[in-house]
Amino acid sequence: MAGEEKGGKIPRTTEFEFMGPIGSVLMLVSLPLTVYYLYFACQPESCSVFDLPQVTFDLSDYLDRDAVLIFIGWMLFQTLLYLAPIGTETEGVVLRNGTRLIYKINAFYVVIISFAMFGLGVYYDYPLHVLYDKYLQLATTAIIFSYLLSLYLYIKAAMGPPSAIAPRGNSGYFVYDFFMGHELNPRIGKFDLKYFCELRPGLIGWALLNFGMVLKIYERGEQPTAAILLVCFFQAVYVVDALWHEKSILTTMDIVHDGFGFMLVFGDLAWVPFTYSLQARYLVDHPVHLSNLAVAAIIGLKLLGFMIFRGSNSQKDAFRRNPNDPALKHLKSIPTQAGSRLLVSGWWGMVRHPNYLGDILMAISWSLPCGFNSILPWFYPLYFIVLLIHREWRDSHECKKKYGQDWDHYCSLVKYRIVPYVY
Ligand code: NDP
Repeated sequence: MAGEEKGGKIPRTTEFEFMGPIGSVLMLVSLPLTVYYLYFACQPESCSVFDLPQVTFDLSDYLDRDAVLIFIGWMLFQTLLYLAPIGTETEGVVLRNGTRLIYKINAFYVVIISFAMFGLGVYYDYPLHVLYDKYLQLATTAIIFSYLLSLYLYIKAAMGPPSAIAPRGNSGYFVYDFFMGHELNPRIGKFDLKYFCELRPGLIGWALLNFGMVLKIYERGEQPTAAILLVCFFQAVYVVDALWHEKSILTTMDIVHDGFGFMLVFGDLAWVPFTYSLQARYLVDHPVHLSNLAVAAIIGLKLLGFMIFRGSNSQKDAFRRNPNDPALKHLKSIPTQAGSRLLVSGWWGMVRHPNYLGDILMAISWSLPCGFNSILPWFYPLYFIVLLIHREWRDSHECKKKYGQDWDHYCSLVKYRIVPYVY
């Protein structure tokens, strides 16, 4: 066993997540169907869960050459920027074999360059409202690409060294390992596929899709409302902030523990851009006029959420990098048998996942501009609350395994999981 832990063969996955192979099949089908449902249910004529979505059966409505070219062009553009000699490099966490991978840090420059290119496109009157017009075709291209890339990743892992396999995606069931990710850190030379997809094409693409929605309004000769401008601004800030803190992703569950399979590929490239942009798409056809007071209240909620989200993520990040940092000496922490200490004051003494609380508050502030006429633009916060509750269970389970009784002690000191005095 010890030999397995240090490198060589990775043990079989025996503990299943997402209801095992059957759950994986359900996810493989239901996740893309959800993207389509949200598209067809939210249309200019109607955006309601109570109306039957008007689905088209004409294949050319789903896929066309322009959308494929835009998608491939975008992926190539992002790849070139990733590989460009700008930015720095940093090391990832220690792997099972004792080594560390080197990662490129240049995503902040990439988002600035991407936004600037988009701005140039607007300046030169390039018809970027195509992002609205070809939304369905672009989403379909991203979905097909996700299946193909996941298949490639599975085959690559199966033919690669056994030591590269992801412990969570090594069940021997094709469908489960395809979904969870069979290889932990798939790379082509120095190009890290998971790290690349996690923060760049999908996240930046989401912000640009939103901008494309605003351009559609101008193309119609109308003026955008404060509501859609708020949504686009808030979400662009979220994207830029994530890319500014690119390094922090190297210690997240996705990079450290999860393999790169359909769950993350589809999540990064299809789910994030094409479901998270629903609020902006809704507001193109269903404008909402907010009072000044409403605008101020929504901005206040966004700022509160951002303060909790950024404050807690940065506090933990700084503590994990250097627990003896003089700037953190006012914080209390408890020792654990596993070696690392757990914070019990500051943000992490308030609830066990203050970063999730901040994220949820921001998510609500992104849907408030859409008003309450339809529940569909509230999809993101509703889904996100479920996702983060599930993620908190997963993380708590992992922490219990890692810290044992020390985790129980921490939980007795910090009683609430996400919302103080509520949950
Ligand atoms: P977290 O950043 O919450 O990290 C959890 C880890 O932190 C634990 O496994 C543990 O790891 C460490 N930890 C837990 N409690 C303490 C403590 N008291 N003191 C010190 N360390 C502690 O993980 P996530 O990756 O889930 O979240 C990162 C961010 O990404 C969040 O803000 C989340 O909201 C966001 N997110 C956004 C998504 C989106 O689609 N928009 C999707 C998922 C996440 P260890 O002790 O081993 O260091």
